[in-house]
Amino acid sequence: MSDAKNDVIDEEEGGEAPWEGHPIYKNALNIMRSVGDVIDFDVNVFARLSKPRRVLYVSVPVRMDDGSIKTFDGYRVHHNTTLGPGKGGVRYHPGVSLGETAGLALLMTLKNSLVRLPLGGAKGGIKVDPNTLSRREKQALTRRYTSEVAMFIGPDKDIPAPDIGTDPQAMAWMMDTYSMHAGYAVPGVVTGKPIEIGGSLGRLDATGRGVVYCIIEAAKRLGLELGPETDVAVQGFGNVGYHSAKIIANIGCRVVAVTDVSGGVYNKNGLDVDKLRDWVAENQVLKGCPQGDYISNEELLFLPVDILIPAALGNQITVGNADKVRCKILAEGANGPTTLEANKILDEKGVFTIPDILANSGGVIVSYFEWVQGMQNFFWSEKDVNNKLWEIISNAFNRVFECHQSRNVGMRTSAFTVSIEHLSRAMLWRGFFP
Ligand code: NAD
Repeated sequence: MSDAKNDVIDEEEGGEAPWEGHPIYKNALNIMRSVGDVIDFDVNVFARLSKPRRVLYVSVPVRMDDGSIKTFDGYRVHHNTTLGPGKGGVRYHPGVSLGETAGLALLMTLKNSLVRLPLGGAKGGIKVDPNTLSRREKQALTRRYTSEVAMFIGPDKDIPAPDIGTDPQAMAWMMDTYSMHAGYAVPGVVTGKPIEIGGSLGRLDATGRGVVYCIIEAAKRLGLELGPETDVAVQGFGNVGYHSAKIIANIGCRVVAVTDVSGGVYNKNGLDVDKLRDWVAENQVLKGCPQGDYISNEELLFLPVDILIPAALGNQITVGNADKVRCKILAEGANGPTTLEANKILDEKGVFTIPDILANSGGVIVSYFEWVQGMQNFFWSEKDVNNKLWEIISNAFNRVFECHQSRNVGMRTSAFTVSIEHLSRAMLWRGFFP
């Protein structure tokens, strides 16, 4: 090991950095602190992980369709790049701020380390409501943002991906803009691209598939048979919710309830996930679907099901309602659906939680595969992608479960412990420059 442990970094006195007060950042720091109760967490490693490595603010002027010019705030944050290039999505949302972006970048560092990808943590975003933009305005925004962050990103430096408000088309514009600057096609600069320009087979359903792979591992450990009597409820029916529901139904479980922003539908005899999808395609929302009775988003959380998959928003299970949750396995497809206080209540009740950084890591794992395929210019079959996803996520699950048992800590603390142990060792080996 290097002697980094002996070089105590001085903490400078000063005002609060712009990210420090943000709830996502504070929450991530609290989780890291809790790991200090489980392992001997090197004080300098903690100090370094408590701050992002680099942050970039960019102003993004866009000529709007009416001829006026609007200037938007954009960010890209590299939280930590010890393990490899930064990796994390680009979010278009009115709530985007430097604090939120830095907090999400920190969580990406820990997620990538947990599943042992050779990638660091990054995140980006623009404070904008994409629903108010025309396609031309969105393209202009994306291309100018990409130009402004071009010196910060690249296949060896930092590889953006889609997040809330961005999609494969936005990634195609980012890839094209970066490639125009380079003078040749650079597919490895972003992931989540359309297949025709270097996207990976299996990326679309990867997060939901990873959720189900984790559930299969959890069920084995708990002695729970996954079959037609295994009831599943899913909150959220977008990318993660739909694919989780579809894949868990395909392995023979009974999906009894699904909701989206409008509420949803419950039927104790089971729902047909494809028909739910057809209903939403025609009616935009699940509400009113004749497959069962209406159920609200909160009621869904309290159903006596075997498996509950929150796959929509954060902060759904809180101190106010955690005691009413009655599932055996909680598989967190969404980011941050359970508050830390609620997590304690669930642990005490014996709910087996598969925490978000493990359960929803399938997306970034297959993004990593897309990057590898782009760098090699050699593309894999969907079967190969899914097999490799299984290998990586089930190994990560094993490490987390082993730590959960041997150290007698909850699954969430265990996941962060496993991640930070690996990252700490890497940081101590590398030491720091100069
Ligand atoms: P999405 O936009 O495709 O779908 C979101 C779903 O949530 C929609 O069905 C929407 O109707 C529903 N929803 C919105 N507000 C709701 C509310 N108040 N109550 C209940 N449902 C509501 O988003 P997604 O890509 O499926 O992401 C869902 C979650 O998973 C987010 O927390 C995201 O950060 C996380 N996640 C996504 C990926 C990925 O690869 N897409 C990867 C990791 C984590």
